[in-house]
Amino acid sequence: MGDAENPVGDAETTVGDTGIRVDRDRCMGSGQCTLFLPDVFDQSEDDGKVVLLDTAASDPASAAALRTAVMRCPSGAISLRPRDSGVTA
Ligand code: SF4
Repeated sequence: MGDAENPVGDAETTVGDTGIRVDRDRCMGSGQCTLFLPDVFDQSEDDGKVVLLDTAASDPASAAALRTAVMRCPSGAISLRPRDSGVTA
């Protein structure tokens, strides 16, 4: 578990052309996402659940890497959508 300098919390952020959303109610704190993409995901030091980092200053992860993070999450807590999909939350 690292130090989240810029946690966004259970919200959405954007990396490159991909929007990322995490559902902290579903997260079981396995840490797979933080191990795989530590510039995008971290875990809360309070409850061990996922937090999104401010990725504006990070190197953008590839779309393929983000899809892999989704597949590795055992609880289905991570979802992706194209940034310009027109879908509103
Ligand atoms: S991989 Fe999924 S369950 Fe594990 S910490 Fe990340 S979001 Fe939570």
